[in-house]
Amino acid sequence: MALDNCIFCKIISGTIPSSFIAQNDHVIVIKDISPKTPSHFLIIPKKHIADVSCLTADDREYASAILLMAQQLSHSNESLREFRLVSNNGTTMGQSVFHIHFHFLAGAHLSF
Ligand code: AMP
Ligand code: ZN
Repeated sequence: MALDNCIFCKIISGTIPSSFIAQNDHVIVIKDISPKTPSHFLIIPKKHIADVSCLTADDREYASAILLMAQQLSHSNESLREFRLVSNNGTTMGQSVFHIHFHFLAGAHLSF
């Protein structure tokens, strides 16, 4: 299930360190190493799936866990109440890690 050359699989397995925020059976949340907003987290399913277009019906629990985790983060602190959730799919859209993840962005005024 985990890919040897995938940085997020290594973070999930604990092989490389990360700035841990939260986890449950289906997703882990870490701080982005290069934050674009004061609060910039990555919600990462614990299954190696390359991107949203690769999701299958079997992955529905992972897919729903992403949204529910975003809600949980938002409810956990007033500074996270308003947020943006975004997933880059494909290199032309800016994807650089090919293990599905959603950026949880908060704490800044975003105009785009
Ligand atoms: P994307 O470019 O949409 O695929 O997002 C990948 C994100 O992963 C980028 O925002 C990177 O800053 C972030 N990232 C890469 N390596 C790490 C790491 N070891 N720990 C935390 N975030 C990382
Ligand atoms: Zn992976």
